[in-house]
Amino acid sequence: MQQQKRFKRIMLKIGGESLIGDREYGIDPKAVLSMAEKIKAIYAKEVEVAIVIGGGNIFRGLSASKNGIERATADYMGMLATVMNGLALQDALDKVGVPVRLQTALQMPAVAEGFIRSKAIRHMEKGRVVILSAGTGMPYVTTDSGAALHALELHCDVLMKATKVDGIYDKDPMTNPGARRFKTMSYKTAIEMEEVQVMDTAALAMCKENNMPIMVFDLFEEGQLEKAIEGEDVGTYVANDTETVLA
Ligand code: UDP
Repeated sequence: MQQQKRFKRIMLKIGGESLIGDREYGIDPKAVLSMAEKIKAIYAKEVEVAIVIGGGNIFRGLSASKNGIERATADYMGMLATVMNGLALQDALDKVGVPVRLQTALQMPAVAEGFIRSKAIRHMEKGRVVILSAGTGMPYVTTDSGAALHALELHCDVLMKATKVDGIYDKDPMTNPGARRFKTMSYKTAIEMEEVQVMDTAALAMCKENNMPIMVFDLFEEGQLEKAIEGEDVGTYVANDTETVLA
C-alpha cells in the first residue's frame, strides 16, 4: 500500500554533507541558509518538524579511527561536529523567522539544551522546530541510528531521509542511465537488497521492528520536501505493510 496520507510530525534526517555547499568540507553559510528556507516551506504547512543533523561534513569517527584515533574518542569528536552543524542550522532557521530550539544528547549547557524527550515534544507542539544534535550520545553508531531512535520516541509519523538522489533505485542511478526508482519498498526487500544501502543496518532494523516508515527523497530538488509531506509520489516509501513497486 502506497502512503497517501499527509504527515503531521516528521523526523528529518539531514546529512552533514548537505551543509558543505561549494566547499570541500565544513560549513557553507549559504548552503545552511538555503536548507533553512526549505524547512521554512514545510513549517509554513503546519507540520511538526524534528531534525537530526549529521556531522560528516566535518568529522566521521569511523574514518578517523582508521587513521589512528581510538574509535570511541573519534566518535565523540564526530558527535561534537553534529553540534556545530546544529548551531549553524539553528542560526539560519532563526534568521529566516522559524522558531527553533537546539538540543544535544551530550550535555553542554552553555551551548544547547540537553535532550529531554518531553521537552522536545513540547517544543514541536508549541510550533518550534527542534534540532537534535550529538545523535544518540553514544559511540559506535551514526546519526542514522539517532534519527531512528528519536523518530520512535517522539512519535513521528515518518523518518524522512534526505539524500542526493530522489529515492531508492534498482541500480546506482549515477552510473546506470536505465536505473529505475522504487515508488514503495517493503522493509524485507530493503534489508535483503545488499546492493542498496537505505541507511545504517542498525537504524533500518530499529525502524522495521517498530513499524517506523522511512521516506528517502531528494532534499535539493525544489519542492520535493513539500510534495513528500503531502503524500505525493516522490522518493521511495519504505514500510512493513508495503509491496516493493517500481515507479
Ligand atoms: N556519532 C556517534 N554516535 C551517534 C551519532 C554520531 O558516534 O549517535 C559520530 C560518528 O563518529 C559519526 C559522526 O558522529 O561518524 C558524524 O555523524 P554521521 O556520520 O552520522 O554524519 P552524516 O553522515 O549524517 O553527515
